[in-house]
Amino acid sequence: MDPAGAIGKLGFQRWYERELLLCHSWLVACLLCVFALLALLEDLSLRELGWGAAAALAAAFAAGGIAWYALARYLSMLLRAMHVAERSTCPGCGAHGKYRLVGASARAMTVHCRKCEREWAID
Ligand SMILES: [Zn+2]
Repeated sequence: MDPAGAIGKLGFQRWYERELLLCHSWLVACLLCVFALLALLEDLSLRELGWGAAAALAAAFAAGGIAWYALARYLSMLLRAMHVAERSTCPGCGAHGKYRLVGASARAMTVHCRKCEREWAID
């Protein structure tokens, strides 16, 4: 879900909490896949190439691919959450995350401060 739609529905603070929980679950998935990859490579013997070794090698490649994808998801979600959070402080009163979504385009969100009624854009 794009940040504007989720922030409009949940509010910034709940969106931010959920985004951090989700991105850290991707980090845990990445670490589990790396452990699986290392365990599979530890038991792999290239002297006796058979179906067992080929299956272990294929599973290790799959674990590595999933770990890479999970790491990419973790970093992209974390960087997006940090990007929005850094711009969520009201320039008028300094309140952080206390706004409601007024409008959104493909590149920016227009938000309205709940404390001082100021509007600003988060791009
Ligand atoms: Zn304000």
